[in-house]
Amino acid sequence: MEHCRLAGPGGCGQGDALYARARRRNTLADRCTQEHEAAGSVRGYIHSVETMGTVDNGGIRFVLFMQGCVMRCAFCHNPDTWLRMGREVTVDEIMSEVLEYTPFFEASGGGVTASGGEPLLQHRFVRALFERCGGHHIHRALDTAGYCKYGDFASVLDCTDLLLFSVKVVDEEKHVKLTGVRNDVILSNLRLAAARGADIVVRYVLIPSVNDSERDLHDIASLVASLGDRVRADILPYNRMGVVKWRQLGLDCALERVPEPTPDDISRARRVFHECSVRLRTD
Ligand code: SF4
Repeated sequence: MEHCRLAGPGGCGQGDALYARARRRNTLADRCTQEHEAAGSVRGYIHSVETMGTVDNGGIRFVLFMQGCVMRCAFCHNPDTWLRMGREVTVDEIMSEVLEYTPFFEASGGGVTASGGEPLLQHRFVRALFERCGGHHIHRALDTAGYCKYGDFASVLDCTDLLLFSVKVVDEEKHVKLTGVRNDVILSNLRLAAARGADIVVRYVLIPSVNDSERDLHDIASLVASLGDRVRADILPYNRMGVVKWRQLGLDCALERVPEPTPDDISRARRVFHECSVRLRTD
């Protein structure tokens, strides 16, 4: 039996105080957001913007990193996005920045990506922004871990062109250790999005000794295969860049000693996906 290197209940071992503080801030921010329902004046909290992103979704992207996440993934690259603080902006303000890049979007087939943190914690803001983008024929990608109420998810899905859906691990016990939360809601949201015919790429961060056993790989590949031909997958090799951020924030990183996957590890994972007839985005 493989050995999982994550420690203790909740895996990444972050304190309850940090989590409770994040929940309190997020609740306050939700109330604040609800008071600004008029589309252009809906307020959101963002961590940062990357205006010439090219990695994730094809074309030049305006990537909006939203603040706030209630998951605590042990491999998170952006733990500084967990609390809902950062820059407060309105949809109008972000749209005026987005519109400056439309020539680049048109020339490259790019568009806007809402990422995080967890963008669906600010679903009203993302929906209002995506509706505005749709009015300008700007492609919209949602990069989410899907941990939210289905109604909130569906409200954004309605105006999303590409769903980048991150599944951390299928086994529920491992999921709790790796992220601090169960994955039943997440998997249910993914299945419902697929049933609605959404254009989906399921993303899987491959972490040696954590979620790369034959069983883990078979579980995730089978899950993607069960969602239908339209759904593709992306294997993202874990990289250790996030460990530095964890140290800077004074957090204990449960993956401190976990290496990045080797080319052989990645080939093995790709083979399992192919055996399950799953299309990889990079094929
Ligand atoms: S869902 Fe994303 S932002 Fe949230 S903890 Fe996990 S990796 Fe970090």
